[in-house]
Amino acid sequence: MARRKAATPIQEFPLIRQLQRRFERKSPSVLKGIGDDAAVVSIPSGNWTVLTTDLLAEGVHFDLRTADFASVGYRAAMANLSDVAAMGATPRFLLISIAVPKTLQAADVTRLYRGLMQACGGYGVHLIGGDTSASHQGLFLSITLLGTTAEGKALFRHGAKVGDSLYVTGTLGDSLAGLQLLTQRRQTARQSRLKPVDRRFLVNRHLHPTARVREGLWLNRAGFATSAIDLSDGLSGDLRHICEASHVGAAVDVSALPISQACRAYAGTQGIDPVTLALAGGEDYELLFTVASHNERSLERQARSRGFQITKVGIMRPGRFGIQAVTSGGGTGPLPVTSYQHFR
Ligand code: ADP
Ligand code: MG
Repeated sequence: MARRKAATPIQEFPLIRQLQRRFERKSPSVLKGIGDDAAVVSIPSGNWTVLTTDLLAEGVHFDLRTADFASVGYRAAMANLSDVAAMGATPRFLLISIAVPKTLQAADVTRLYRGLMQACGGYGVHLIGGDTSASHQGLFLSITLLGTTAEGKALFRHGAKVGDSLYVTGTLGDSLAGLQLLTQRRQTARQSRLKPVDRRFLVNRHLHPTARVREGLWLNRAGFATSAIDLSDGLSGDLRHICEASHVGAAVDVSALPISQACRAYAGTQGIDPVTLALAGGEDYELLFTVASHNERSLERQARSRGFQITKVGIMRPGRFGIQAVTSGGGTGPLPVTSYQHFR
């Protein structure tokens, strides 16, 4: 999005007051929100508190040429909601810190917050504070989300056992396909063969991903998942975190990976294998989790009755097996790491 000239420079305190007026909501659990030195919230006894924070830098995590302020905010909130979902917790309180370059106007910040709060809308999350600074080099956005879960109950990356089945929610690769569609500036002849409805689906999956909060809560409460992680960098990398934390290996059935019809169609127009998108694609924010094989049937039955899409994509193996891809022909080979990595 093109930067407009700064009409009126942002003033810190009027901006905070405006954000408070528009986005702060009263709640009995918020004893003090915006407006004091720190926020005070009440957490029911018998709960664990789950905390996560994310820093997003313009040019690294988002690009204001391909995404508007609202969708930057929306995706930033989703990334945090997804982390809380992957712990099996209920998201509750939100702190937002921003460093704002001079080129931005107060209305841009309001749009950013609108996207942030829209993402949180369905989950009853309360904005309770943040921090505001000037920036000399692009926009920075830091989000801290606090969630709760019943004491003793959380989904960790550790806990997967040899023989457990590996499952994933939703479909994989859509967000990466959507990003590629957004960044390929001109509609190339190949791209225009993609149906508008598929293009819209993929772009929307990139700009408006859905954190699997309800699925995470269900997996945690039902006690099915032995380990879990959210797919923020891509399955090929994120699975490694489960394997390392749990000291196990994995065999991934690449032909079983859930891939949407739109993503397959897109891969077809590009002459690429959709599996590469599914393995590399970050920001799908699906949950990857393991389940003891004796719980598989109950898991799948409950998922169906709740309308949750889950797919079995592999099995956990001893650590010395490493992480292998199993093809439909039965051949195996090391699963290539194609997921997103900083400083690479
Ligand atoms: P301090 O000087 O202690 O950092 P501030 O003046 O920055 O305090 O903040 C005053 C109040 O406004 C605090 O409650 C803080 O949480 C809130 N606040 C500041 N910036 C933001 C922001 N960008 N979004 C939401 N709340 C904010
Ligand atoms: Mg401050």
